[in-house]
This record gives sequence, C-alpha cells and structure tokens, in this order.
Amino acid sequence: MLLKRLEAYGFKSFADRIEIEFDRGITAVVGPNGSGKSNITDAIRWVLGEQNIRNLRGSKAEDIIFAGSSARKPAGIAQVSLTFDNEDGKLPLEFQEITISRRLFRTGESEFYINKARCRLKDIYGLFADTGIGRDSISVISQNKVDEVLNAKPEDRRLLFEECAGITKYRDRKREAVRKLESTQQNALRINDIILEIE
Ligand code: ATP
Repeated sequence: MLLKRLEAYGFKSFADRIEIEFDRGITAVVGPNGSGKSNITDAIRWVLGEQNIRNLRGSKAEDIIFAGSSARKPAGIAQVSLTFDNEDGKLPLEFQEITISRRLFRTGESEFYINKARCRLKDIYGLFADTGIGRDSISVISQNKVDEVLNAKPEDRRLLFEECAGITKYRDRKREAVRKLESTQQNALRINDIILEIE
C-alpha cells in the first residue's frame, strides 16, 4: 500500500493549502528549524485518528488550527486528507484509491470522511486496524518514541506486538462485544424487575 498524497489547510503552520506527493522509495523532508517538518507528521497522525492532543504537541484541540500571524488572521477550520493507493487491496474497501479526511472547526465540531463520504472515527480505526498504519501503530515514530518504547511497561509494549501481529482488530471487536453484552444484561435485569412488579 502506497501513501500517495497529503493535502492540508488550516492545520498548524499551514495556513494555505499544501499538497505533498509521495513517490515510491524514500521521501525526505528538509527545512530550517521551526519550518513545519514535524507538523507534516502531526497532520498524518491526526487524520489517522489521533485523539490525544499531547501526541500532536498541543494542549487543547484547537491548537492544531492555524492560530494566525501578524499578516494573517486565524483559520476557522483545519482539514487534512491522506490518499492511499489501494491497488493491492490491503485496505478492506473496493476502491483502488482511498482518501481519508478529517476536519475540525474552531467551534469544536469534528468530521471524518472516507472517499468524501462522512463516517465515524471508529470507521477510520477499522479501516486501518492491523495494517500497521493505525493511530497506535509504529508507522510514525517521533523523536522520543524510541526511548518511550524501550522504557515502556511490558503490558504497554505488548500493544505494539499485538498491532504487528494483526490482532488489534479482534481486541477492539471483543471490547465492543463485551460492552454490548453488559448493556444487554442490564436491560434483561430491568425487564425481570418489571415482570416481578407486574406479577
Ligand atoms: P525542528 O527542525 O526544530 O524540529 P520543524 O521543522 O519540525 O522544526 P515544526 O515543529 O513542525 O517545525 O513547526 C513548528 C512551527 O509550527 C512553529 O513555528 C509554530 O509556531 C508553528 N505552529 C504550530 N502550531 C501552530 C498553529 N496552530 N498555528 C500557527 N503556527 C503553528
């Protein structure tokens, strides 16, 4: 699966629309300190569903929206799209090319899209589960991530192995099934109480 393109606007330092095409092989991004290199990887993490703003080097959600400068007013919206070539069918959708997008409005409203169709964050997680690209995967390794992995507690390090082994999807589904089961058990209890009251 090839990451073909990143498009963003209003995201962190990218006030104007940017478009980056990725070729096969290695792509290196070079630039002076503070020019926005890490903001590119932050954009990739964000559109893949990162919910922890600290992992994006911010302290509140709207920190990812262009904050304005002496010459420009702040943006009202941040949007990032990532396009993958899916000719090898690694992503479980019948499209040769898949674009995922995320938008955040300054009002706090947030939206996700898969090929321009509105979807839930859960759908984005599901799409990438066990592909090695998901939100918790090690496809994006930040400067201090290596130390973090080495110093992690065994149970936290295990999550990495689970992602690599392709069982994350099943862990997520199990959690969802257990949640539904618990809610059904609560409903059954309530119904029993009502039956007892009526009898
Ligand atoms: P280094 O080489 O030092 O790691 P870098 O090229 O990776 O730097 P980034 O950390 O990606 O640079 O970018 C930092 C820049 O992004 C800073 O100038 C910061 O002011 C700007 N920036 C971050 N968030 C926003 C925002 N919400 N609005 C406007 N600018 C922002």
